Amino acid sequence: MAIILAVFSALVLPPPPPSPSPAAVTIATPRGEVRVSVERDHTGAPIVPVRQVFTALGGMVSETGDWVEASVSGQSFRFLVGTPYYRVGDQVLVLATPMVRRRDSLFVPLQFLTEILPQRFVQRYHYDGRRAHFTEIAGTGSVQHAGTLPNGLLPGHMVTIDPGHGGSDPGNPGKYFPKGVQEKHVTLQIGLLVRNELQARGVAVRMTRTSDVRTPLLERAPMCSDGCDLFVSLHVDALPSSRRDYKSVRGFHTLIIGEENSADATRVARMENESLRYEIEDGAGAEDDALAFIFKDLSRNEYLLESANAAELIQARLAKIHSGENIGVRQTNRLAVLNTAQRPAMLVEMGYATNRQDAQFMQSPSGQRKIAGALADAIVQYLIAYDHKVGAGALSGVGK
Ligand SMILES: [Zn+2]
Repeated sequence: MAIILAVFSALVLPPPPPSPSPAAVTIATPRGEVRVSVERDHTGAPIVPVRQVFTALGGMVSETGDWVEASVSGQSFRFLVGTPYYRVGDQVLVLATPMVRRRDSLFVPLQFLTEILPQRFVQRYHYDGRRAHFTEIAGTGSVQHAGTLPNGLLPGHMVTIDPGHGGSDPGNPGKYFPKGVQEKHVTLQIGLLVRNELQARGVAVRMTRTSDVRTPLLERAPMCSDGCDLFVSLHVDALPSSRRDYKSVRGFHTLIIGEENSADATRVARMENESLRYEIEDGAGAEDDALAFIFKDLSRNEYLLESANAAELIQARLAKIHSGENIGVRQTNRLAVLNTAQRPAMLVEMGYATNRQDAQFMQSPSGQRKIAGALADAIVQYLIAYDHKVGAGALSGVGK
């Protein structure tokens, strides 16, 4: 017993010092400045009135019984009064303290303003704790057209993000990832971050998977159809150990459909198509059907130019944050996941698991954040260029 107590007391951390929380927070937006007073819940934790906060941010709040739905920047948050939980998309997340009703008003922890919003919308919101100042960053640069988001994008875009592999299909074994970490884990971690980054930039996201499951390879790209602008499949490359230089090759490349322009693209296609093996073993589809998709006529040629534009932007953005080589955009007609695409589509090999530095970069939280931010920036840049190109349609409200 004594031992248990000793261990237990060693684990109990001293309570954190009461953080000095401000009496009020200033919310500054392009629509004006609002001062919101900070109250205390019965435990002394700082809370702020929900309606006042969301109204200041140009958002909306609606109540159904104890469920509260609040939306801002195209993102909806669902709270349940009396609980410290909230829901965003299919994620359930935790608040510092429960949402409470006091008099006729609802309150969320101050943390919602100081941490949750700035972290979810990194480009849009900033909190300065020293000055108790919450800022909405206005669009930069050129004149903002009516109806565009602060980043210049028209609302209503949707992108499908495909974290490669999953479930029984681990992808490559991840030579230099920590033990037990394989390609499928890293693609999912980065994929979820890309989703958050895109949502923060006002782009809706559909995921081919959000957990460790094996979505059939040929069902992934078709998830980007009506109303979807772009399909981006995320992968990690690995070279066979039979190559003498397999540990030294590093960098990132993006594949799109097109006439084969490098032997290495064929190698990648062969490797990524290996995923089909899991489907064939499962009896989920006959091998012939699978191969028919791979070799079928390239009806996606109409999207070749769009795919190439987006792929170039992705390479350019990754080059700014990736220490590996910019290997460039490659074309192949043999990638099953792209040959089933119905929209502009690409497959990004974010680095080599067979190279120590690349592997370290891709599995570290900071590396993952940088990659996700670069991908989201490139996608938004592509969508803005696309909006401009279809300008006439966009102005009449027919975005695409
Ligand atoms: Zn892969």
